[in-house]
Amino acid sequence: MKAIRLTAIGSSLEEKEIEKPAVALPDVLIRITAAGICHSDAHYRAGVSPIKSLPLTLGHEVAGVVEQVGSQVQNFMPGDRVCVHYLVTCGQCKFCRAGTEQFCPSAQMIGKHRDGGFAEFIAVPERSVFRLPDEIPFEQGAILMCSSATSLHALNKARLQPGETVAIFGVGGLGISSLQLASHFAAAGIYAIDVNPRKLELAERFGAIPINAAVGNPVEEILELTQGRGVDVALELVGLPLTMRQAVQSLAILGRAALVGLSRESFEVAPYLDLLNKEAEIIGVSDHMASEIPLLLDLVRTRKLDLSHGIIRNVPLDAGVVNEALDRLEEFSDDVRTVILL
Ligand SMILES: [Zn+2]
Ligand SMILES: [Zn+2]
Repeated sequence: MKAIRLTAIGSSLEEKEIEKPAVALPDVLIRITAAGICHSDAHYRAGVSPIKSLPLTLGHEVAGVVEQVGSQVQNFMPGDRVCVHYLVTCGQCKFCRAGTEQFCPSAQMIGKHRDGGFAEFIAVPERSVFRLPDEIPFEQGAILMCSSATSLHALNKARLQPGETVAIFGVGGLGISSLQLASHFAAAGIYAIDVNPRKLELAERFGAIPINAAVGNPVEEILELTQGRGVDVALELVGLPLTMRQAVQSLAILGRAALVGLSRESFEVAPYLDLLNKEAEIIGVSDHMASEIPLLLDLVRTRKLDLSHGIIRNVPLDAGVVNEALDRLEEFSDDVRTVILL
């Protein structure tokens, strides 16, 4: 089968002909119909997030149709529309049993620790497979398994309550999902911070109050708009020390900053002013949980979470096109999402 693979850190992905994956007893073999191209893939290509074993087929946002099932598979059959939870876990350890399988010691992320979705087929254990409702197009089924799932998890980790205010730093795929979810959970005011006017316009269309960080200090603006109070929840989705600090500084008393964006760098906080004095919290967010996926699928199915606006580009399974999409993500260009359609 055809696969787009990372063969060396820091160089372009290459198109290769490889074996179709073997189907173990608990596995579902999926004929991939859609695979999202994610900012994390750019990090893997560049070596910002280390990849241990190469070559590797990237792609962790996958939807498709069941092609074949192993003999232990109970709930799926060929022809089913499905999407994939990107973590393959053991199902037995204490973390898996507690539903926090992102900490499973043997967890492997598809497209990072094992071959992913920039290919014609993928095999994953049944426990990582979710039925995709007919109302949800494949490309939405693919991207919602990463950015939207992480958005939901971030809001859960930040313990957003109805009537609270939210600041969202970074209006990419994660940001647009986050602000729609925050609004579904009855947030009282949602502030969207970005430097890109087109992204801010999109955020405004979904009911957020746009704040252009290129023309002013977003912390000051948030404080002004909240009568000096600050926000109850801040989501940092950019992965820059500056925006992490701003997210913390924009918090109200008892506020929670959930950090989602990846960075290797440190950032500074003033312990008394920014945290102690307000009993504010900084919360790390890693991936999401399989248990969150059914609600997410239901919100997309019922259009409470609208993903149709964000996909502005469908592309073929082609190494040149995929590399170009990754270049654009590195430049923080206007594209909200790009999805490979097969
Ligand atoms: Zn992703
Ligand atoms: Zn486990």
